[in-house]
Amino acid sequence: MADILEKYAEVAGSTVVSHLRQLGRLLRGVRVVHVNSTKVGGGVAELLGELLPLMDALGLEARWEVIEGPPEFYQTTKAMHNGLQGQQVSIPGSGYRAYEEANEETAERLRPVLENADFVFIHDPQPAPLLSLIPNRRGRWIWRCHIDVRRPYRPVWKYMRNYVESFDASVFSLADFAQALPHPQYLIPPSIDPLNEKNIELPEEEVAAAREQFGLDPELPLIVQISRFDRFKDPLGVIEATKIAQKTTPVQLVLAGGGATDDPESEAVLAEVLEAAEGEEHIRVLELPPGANRTVNALQRTADVIMQKSLREGFGLTVSEGMWKSKPVIGGDTGGIRLQVVDHYTGFLVRTPEGAALRIRYLLARRDVLEDVGHRAHRFVLQNFLITRQLRDYLALMVALHYGEQGRLEVGTPNNHPI
Ligand code: UDP
Repeated sequence: MADILEKYAEVAGSTVVSHLRQLGRLLRGVRVVHVNSTKVGGGVAELLGELLPLMDALGLEARWEVIEGPPEFYQTTKAMHNGLQGQQVSIPGSGYRAYEEANEETAERLRPVLENADFVFIHDPQPAPLLSLIPNRRGRWIWRCHIDVRRPYRPVWKYMRNYVESFDASVFSLADFAQALPHPQYLIPPSIDPLNEKNIELPEEEVAAAREQFGLDPELPLIVQISRFDRFKDPLGVIEATKIAQKTTPVQLVLAGGGATDDPESEAVLAEVLEAAEGEEHIRVLELPPGANRTVNALQRTADVIMQKSLREGFGLTVSEGMWKSKPVIGGDTGGIRLQVVDHYTGFLVRTPEGAALRIRYLLARRDVLEDVGHRAHRFVLQNFLITRQLRDYLALMVALHYGEQGRLEVGTPNNHPI
């Protein structure tokens, strides 16, 4: 049980792990349930898969449940997601009905688990109505919003707020996303797991083999964007940026992604992307199966520059993943990307394909800058965006909600503040 935490101490330092143990002691045996809408694909699933074993190792009883529904449920929740990210969407009455029914069915299926939990974390809009369907709950319920809700489309937010208001607290990834709500709001940015196969060091041969495996030019500078095929990730903008850069700078692009089981739009977006890339020798679109973590790792490591040109982004784990590998990231100037990419320091923020093309050319012409930015990016992630930091924030939140006003919590180095 201790071993897994010791491994994290080797990467993140012993102080942070000592904090985790101190907080974990206060929460031993506490029942925590996380509910989201997919086990596969996307950042939330990625994070939960990593956080749960750590909560377990600290002695909490953590479990992960998934809301499921018919295709109309996913169409509705995808539209809600887009609406919360600011797109004007129109959701038919039958869509809202499918949404509410899927929640009713999930409430029936999970009733004992949800009633008895000490903490329930509801991730994103999909399972938000569950709270209203579990009147006999005994624990604290927290709405964990991962998406960029800086300027939501009002009708969708109005509908969603009815559900969200009843929670005991909500968590957003950054201050920009906080909303007018009648309960405490906490800011907890997501994080990456340095021990996940996606982020561990890889042998050089394995990194080089990735180029061969996907028929890439072994010498040509490489730009990589790893993303679900989603319009907010702006894959077409990335292709355009590459084409502009290619006019003066030899460079190749890989756009790699897969779908998520809760995303009905990805096929249509992929078709658009394939059309835009057709006939382009140095633009490769890769469809990755779920869990291709080592492949993602190798592609990011063999890249010269990582791109994440999103138009909206709750956080963007792929940004920290690239930075952890000491790569400069060219990121869309939006949402959680701004938290990770400090412009000109740990990467570059861009708003247009032309801007992205300019940065590609600059970085490939200035290898010294490319390397400096990459090194600073790695350190920035080490200090701010590793899973140990996020877990500590979650534990502190639970301690605060659990113990309320009862006392002061001091977490420190073992010598100064023993608990
Ligand atoms: N990812 C992956 N394979 C893919 C596409 C994405 O493993 O084909 C991973 C990616 O490396 C990252 C996560 O899925 O860890 C996506 O999280 P992010 O926050 O970047 O975006 P989201 O999909 O949650 O909007």
